[in-house]
Amino acid sequence: MDKLSRLNKMINESRNVVFFGGAGVSTESGIKDFRSADGIYSMEYKFSPEEVLSHTFYEEHTEDFYDFYRKYLCFPDAKPNKAHFKLAELEKEGKLKAVITQNVDGLHQLAGSKRVFELHGSALRNYCIKCGKFYDFDYIYNNTGIPKCECGGTVKPDVVLYEESLNDKIIHGAIKAITKADMLIVAGTSLKVYPAAGFIRYFKGKNFVLINMEETGFDSEFGLVIYGKVGEILDRIKL
Ligand code: ZN
Repeated sequence: MDKLSRLNKMINESRNVVFFGGAGVSTESGIKDFRSADGIYSMEYKFSPEEVLSHTFYEEHTEDFYDFYRKYLCFPDAKPNKAHFKLAELEKEGKLKAVITQNVDGLHQLAGSKRVFELHGSALRNYCIKCGKFYDFDYIYNNTGIPKCECGGTVKPDVVLYEESLNDKIIHGAIKAITKADMLIVAGTSLKVYPAAGFIRYFKGKNFVLINMEETGFDSEFGLVIYGKVGEILDRIKL
């Protein structure tokens, strides 16, 4: 049996599928991994994307942070791709119980997914750090400089920066979903970014699948590894 047929069979026989996705899930929507901005940005600002997206940088160079953020983390025209839509369909059919994502683009919800654990938050939610007032994506994106609340406080994206801790409630929800799953599909992630590798250790089920463009250091741990584009592969699944 070829790999795609095996994946299809696994999904059909599973009752509690959980999907764990990284940046590679959104590349087919035209969203680049911000790490790919490295070359260009470090020449311009002498900082790596990881440094710019740290809490220290945010505090010390707030205006530069927003400049980078608007350029590399905001994608106003991005639409869900075949991966997002297939996952929403699988959830609707009762197969898929949760999506856990490292992306902050909100595309899973836009495609119709209901149970989504956003480990790194969402660029679609922004809050005043002083009074807590909510601001939408456009408010940040269409402003220049440091976005300010009407109360004078700074409006900060609900995105987890380096040096900041993940939300406890989201971590626990994600771990619980993985623990209960009989199938875990890990996709579009090299598993190098914290805390991805730690999460998949909680999986105790039968069908453990990796879909990624290239090899990862964890390939041997999976029962099935498929190299390719996540959307193209998931789109061929038939229930
Ligand atoms: Zn405010």
